[in-house]
Formats: sequence, structure tokens, C-alpha cells
Amino acid sequence: MDLDSFTRNWSELRRLVGPSVKILQVVKADAYGHGAIEISHTALKNGAACLGVANADEGVQLRVSGITAPIIILSPSTKGEIREIIKYGLTPSLSDLMFAGEFQRHLEEAGVTAPVHIEIDTGMGRGGILWNEAPALIRKILAFPNIVVEGLFSHFASSEICVNFNEQQGTLFLALVEKLSAEGISIPIKHMANSGAILNYPRFFLDMVRPGLMSYGIHPATQTEGKADLCPVMSFKTRVILLKEFPKGAGIGYNRTYITDRPSRIATLPVGYGDGYGIILSNQGEVLIRGKRVPVVGRVSMDMVTIDVSSLPDCRIGDEAVLMGRQGGEEISANDIASRIGTISYDILCTLGKRAPRIFV
Ligand code: PLP
Repeated sequence: MDLDSFTRNWSELRRLVGPSVKILQVVKADAYGHGAIEISHTALKNGAACLGVANADEGVQLRVSGITAPIIILSPSTKGEIREIIKYGLTPSLSDLMFAGEFQRHLEEAGVTAPVHIEIDTGMGRGGILWNEAPALIRKILAFPNIVVEGLFSHFASSEICVNFNEQQGTLFLALVEKLSAEGISIPIKHMANSGAILNYPRFFLDMVRPGLMSYGIHPATQTEGKADLCPVMSFKTRVILLKEFPKGAGIGYNRTYITDRPSRIATLPVGYGDGYGIILSNQGEVLIRGKRVPVVGRVSMDMVTIDVSSLPDCRIGDEAVLMGRQGGEEISANDIASRIGTISYDILCTLGKRAPRIFV
């Protein structure tokens, strides 16, 4: 993991949002597979106002590592998480009155107050209080004496592309803020923008933005590529552990899904789907060796991948093999891999297995 690239991406973020908008660094799912503790520390050094996780356990892991900054749980929490939320000083997001009531009861019992962010569903159809029900529910939540409503937020369904629906969601959110303010209700931190909206919708930066993907150096869509200069933070590398010459007609890997159509030089790499290199990349993936692209041949095993290096007579055991990242003038990006197998870059990053050690440079 290239933390200098992460810091460079943060400069781009700051350039886009300006000096006064707060930045919540999204570090859920182990910081999209990058390592939540190291990424959180680096984001805070770069000026992150707070961190965003998906559940209490992820927040506790950060607290235990010594992080004292605010940690906001972006998904709705369960009642079973309330004790941990209070004990570790995490900030839940509220999507319904029942959870809010339960949280209030626990806070009162503990004799403490705690901040919350209320999520509004403006069209994502997932977490959040439905937009039209929001004013009444917010008033009720504001009446809970131990709950301090610090934030109000919503989430875009497709901010990475410019479609009218984004404007509609943003407009609904702003209308709600205005309605509340007409009633004398002012919530300090309003936020809406994830990476796509940071790149496409400055109008919706509000008080705080919530970047995930772009801070990790990846554009959420090809259309946003001209809008910020981002460097991928993660690369996935290994080394050739074995080289063999096969005659024409040899089967490679489980079920012999690849049969050599000529005499072939096959290299074995010590990674597989057990490390997150998906089985779907069998006979489909590409790897960089000696600055050249070579194909994955045969089925990806749990612990090994085979590649055809017939075009590289100089290839040796010990050569660096890049499954994702740069080598020489070539690059295999998370977006390249994702489009090859019909998924999205988020999925590629998050599914990198725990077995592959994260090395921070
Ligand atoms: N905010 C919320 C509520 C999210 O769920 C996510 C990620 O899924 C983000 C922000 C960050 O999104 P992105 O990685 O597209 O910036």
C-alpha cells in the first residue's frame, strides 16, 4: 500500500472541496481492503475530521489502535451493538425511531449523552428515514434528552454518473434542511457527497464530504477521470516460484481447462482465490512480468495461479509478478480487472484476502 499516493489523493480531495469543508474518511471493510488502522492514521494526519465505518466492531478495532477521532457508523446499527457504541464512544447513524429510543434508554441508564447522525433516505432505498417522514421523526429524536443530533446525511444512488436523479436527491435533502431551519432546527453537520459526488456535484459538498474510493486512488467511473489526478494506493504483487516447459497438448491446472496449443513456458505464482484472486479470472486474468502483460492460463487454484510466459524467454524464478498495479510502463488497474469479470472496482479491492500481507510503503 502506497501511503504517499494516499496522501497525494488527499491533496486532490482538498483541492476539490476547498479548505473549509470537513472530510470524513470512509474506512469500512478494512478501508476497502487497504488496512483500516494504517489508512485511518494517515487520513487523520492529512486532516480528516472523522472516520466512517460500517459497524461497531470496525469502530472498536480503530479505538483499540489508539484512534480518538470521531468514528461514525454509516450503516444502521443493531440493538446488540449499543453497549459497544457507548463504551467505545462511537457515533451511530439513526434510521428509525425504535433504535433511537433504545439508544436513549441505554444512554440514560449510563448517565451520559452521545452524538448521532440521522440518515435520510432521499432515494437510495436502503438506510435512512424516508424523506417524507423525516421532519416528524427528527423532532421526536431531538426531544430525546441524552441524544445530541450532530449530523444529518443522505447517500446518492448513482453519483458517479451525471443523471437527473442525483439532482433530485440533492434537492430533496436541501429542501429538508430548509424546512427544518424554518422551524428553528439547525443540525451542525450536513453531508451527502461520496467520491462520485465530490467529482461531479460541488453543489452538494455541504459541511462535510465522505470519500472512499477516490481516496484510494480509483475513479468511480470513466467519466470522472479528467476531474482529479488520482494514484492507486493498492498494488497486489507476488513472485514466480516455479517455471516449467510443456509440450503442445499439456493440461494446466484443475479440470485441465487450458490445454497448451504449442510448446509453452508456464510459471506458477503462489497466490490464488484464497488470497482474493478470484476463480473467475481463470483463463481470463493478466499479470505483469518484466513489464509485459501475460495471460493467466488454467483454473485459478486456492493457493496458486499459472501464467503463460512463453513470450518472455528471460523470465526467471523470483521475478516480480504484478496482479494489480504498475510495472514498467504497464498497469493493471482495479477497474481493468473489474470490467474483465463484470464487477466493480470496490468489489476487487474489498475481496483481497486477509492472507495476503499488507505492506505499507
Ligand atoms: N458514504 C456512505 C454512506 C457509503 O456507504 C459509502 C460507501 O459505500 C461512502 C460514503 C463512500 O463511497 P465512495 O467509495 O463511492 O466514495
